[in-house]
Amino acid sequence: MKIELNRIKIREVIKDYQDSAEEGVVAYGGKLDVRPKYQREFVYKDKQRDAVLDTIKKGFPLNVLYWMVREDGGYELLDGQQRTISIGQYISGDFSLDDRYFHNLTKEEQEQILNYELMIYFCEGTDKERLGWFKTINIAGEKLTDQELRNAVYTGPWLSDAKLKFSKSNCAGYLLANDCGALLTGSPIRQEYLETALSWINNDEVAGYMAKHQHDKNANELWEYFQNVIAWVRKTFTNHRKEMAHVNWGELYNEFKDKKLDAKKLETEIAKLMQDEDVTKKSGIYPYVLTKQEKHLSIRAFNDKMKREAYEKQKGICSKCEEHFEIEEMEADHTTPWHEGGKTTAENCQMLCKECNRRKSGK
Ligand SMILES: [Zn+2]
Repeated sequence: MKIELNRIKIREVIKDYQDSAEEGVVAYGGKLDVRPKYQREFVYKDKQRDAVLDTIKKGFPLNVLYWMVREDGGYELLDGQQRTISIGQYISGDFSLDDRYFHNLTKEEQEQILNYELMIYFCEGTDKERLGWFKTINIAGEKLTDQELRNAVYTGPWLSDAKLKFSKSNCAGYLLANDCGALLTGSPIRQEYLETALSWINNDEVAGYMAKHQHDKNANELWEYFQNVIAWVRKTFTNHRKEMAHVNWGELYNEFKDKKLDAKKLETEIAKLMQDEDVTKKSGIYPYVLTKQEKHLSIRAFNDKMKREAYEKQKGICSKCEEHFEIEEMEADHTTPWHEGGKTTAENCQMLCKECNRRKSGK
């Protein structure tokens, strides 16, 4: 990563400043993309915006800005978008400060603002370098989510198309996943839908998928995949429950999409497990009925009272090796395992030494 510090006057930076809601914001004689089409909308509050101008008027230093140098000789603003837009809007006369617009200021006051020098780092590097470095500088200022960071790195037609489907308030992805009850959580605008769709299609390797498809003409593959997952879930789990918004559907779809499943039988099993007090993670019922892995359910653990009771009853003797242990050296175990109908109750609790317990649970 090559990084170089420049001091550039506001006069230069906001030269030919243009803000069009749909097409983004440009400045610096048209060479700087302040807000490319793919980025989050301007979210500064009036107070923050006023603070930026106040700092400049007083001649105090603003935090550094970061511009990415593009191969075509232009620049993309990486960090400092909202500060730059605040300055551009003020000078364009979009808002006033203490009841004075830019055009109400004296010539001297105007010049002071226009001659104020911004500290700007010009950065050049590979995708990977940018992503790593981005995460580091993101510690300061308006926090970007992981997916917003990735979006800033893997730009192109693929991303624009993917964002059209997954990143607007009422985008097709959102409507599809929420029709007949939510199957996802999060907000499309904060890129959480896009992130989830990507983690589903590529087993959590989100950046890897984006790197591979960055230059694709569109995001049809991702979109079709997402539609297939949602359709499969609706067909397989016919009764919607709120817990379904917290399931990793991609993982289940990838593994079970070609298996023959009986929706009616699954529903009966789910309804029964939903009422089981020992199942503490209800959303885990969905992966459990397909995989039969008990870890998804977070079966309730024995509490200290139950453990003490069992320990006293056994007089400190391990039920397997029949040797004596202190209670701290022992672990509680379901005498009848949960999957054979054993409950997490005092009557079904036995204390085993750690070694016997490990051997019994096959760990
Ligand atoms: Zn033992």
